Amino acid sequence: MFTIVIKLYLRNKLKLILSNKSPVLDVIIVGAGPAGLVTALGLSGFSTRVYEALDKPNKDKLCAGFVPITVFEEFNLPKNLYRHEVSAFRFFRPMGDSVAVEFNYMVGGNVDRTEFAEYLAKLATSQGVELCTGIRVMDFRERDGYVEVVTGEGVEKAKFLVISCGVKDRLPFKVINPFTRDRLGLCIQVDAPSKVDARGENWIFYGEKYSPFGYAWIFPKDKVTSIGLGALISHIKSNLRLYLAKLKEYHEFDLNKARFHPVPLSGPIKNIATRRVLLVGDSAGHVSPITGEGIKYAMFAGREAAKAISMALRGDISVKDVRTVYLKGLSKTVFPDLRIGRMLMRIVERRMLKSSGLFKDREKLRAVAELYASNISHFKAALKYLKAVVS
Ligand SMILES: Cc1cc2nc3c(=O)[nH]c(=O)nc-3n(C[C@H](O)[C@H](O)[C@H](O)COP(=O)(O)OP(=O)(O)OC[C@H]3O[C@@H](n4cnc5c(N)ncnc54)[C@H](O)[C@@H]3O)c2cc1C
Repeated sequence: MFTIVIKLYLRNKLKLILSNKSPVLDVIIVGAGPAGLVTALGLSGFSTRVYEALDKPNKDKLCAGFVPITVFEEFNLPKNLYRHEVSAFRFFRPMGDSVAVEFNYMVGGNVDRTEFAEYLAKLATSQGVELCTGIRVMDFRERDGYVEVVTGEGVEKAKFLVISCGVKDRLPFKVINPFTRDRLGLCIQVDAPSKVDARGENWIFYGEKYSPFGYAWIFPKDKVTSIGLGALISHIKSNLRLYLAKLKEYHEFDLNKARFHPVPLSGPIKNIATRRVLLVGDSAGHVSPITGEGIKYAMFAGREAAKAISMALRGDISVKDVRTVYLKGLSKTVFPDLRIGRMLMRIVERRMLKSSGLFKDREKLRAVAELYASNISHFKAALKYLKAVVS
């Protein structure tokens, strides 16, 4: 027993000595989701390592998977990543009927999240980024001049640390406060073999029958279909499985296979970066509070984080300015939608708009569809909706 303890002590000591000798990387990224991988893509040329806790990037990530075409164009992604192309949203209204809002072009599509992340990961590794799967980052400590990152394998050092590990892990909450119940959503979703012919449509369900405060969806992805709903946690009074079961009327699925996942609905948060640590994506609350969409914002935020860090690594700005440059970038690309999204959510929450009137006529529904299609800003979609209300 005594010799085992001594051996373990020596092994750990050796790990620590080796880690102290290991070179300081430019950047360590925690999590290989869209936020982490787009950040990594923007840092090629610097020594960048991505740690992913699972054995594949974003493995079995619970998500409906809608990504607007504008994002595909912006990031030059191949369309064959879409498992289902979307040119219409069918809204199931609280009054019991359904209306399809059609576009005369493809507004986006649904991706398989693991496939999507694997594509980005391949691109990043081909540009020299090191991807370490199956390694969980457990802790970090900001030191003078670098950040110490603790994994099950030892301690590594980097000039900058990007935390893009979502909201299930506690790492982001060493930088920001945990999301409160009125700023955090809970989703339940099940993936089932596709049974309905959705013909270019994504289905969205409104009303208290389907979610205590949120909405439900049926989004096809070729051979499988994602069936789920999201709700603001402060409004949840009973088990979300009971709500999900109501979607059986529209699609077969096994309720026992349903899984839960949180999603931040906070609106913009300002203190998401310290001198050398930046939060990106879900970890930073980069999700639209009104639609629950986060892939797009994770990617745009990743790009801004990479921009700010690479400027500092090249010596164009000082380390202390990284946070300012990152926030400035976000205030142009990500924060406006999050701000308007949060405002719209509060309006609906305070019942300032009557839910029965929300989806009453086609013009209002078109504005809501534009919001989901995300081909215009939240501000422009809100203006369209307002115009429909007053006309
Ligand atoms: C049910 C559901 C449906 C959704 N539908 C949509 C949709 O249709 N469209 C849309 O745009 N958004 C949708 N979202 C939101 C979207 O999934 C997220 O906003 C998006 O995944 C955020 O990306 P990310 O890179 O920040 O985090 P994630 O995609 O969560 O990636 C984080 C990665 O970090 C890894 N990780 C976690 N902890 C550690 C650690 N300690 N060490 C190492 N690795 C770690 C995880 O394994 C994971 O791979 C949905 C969310 C849910 C829950």
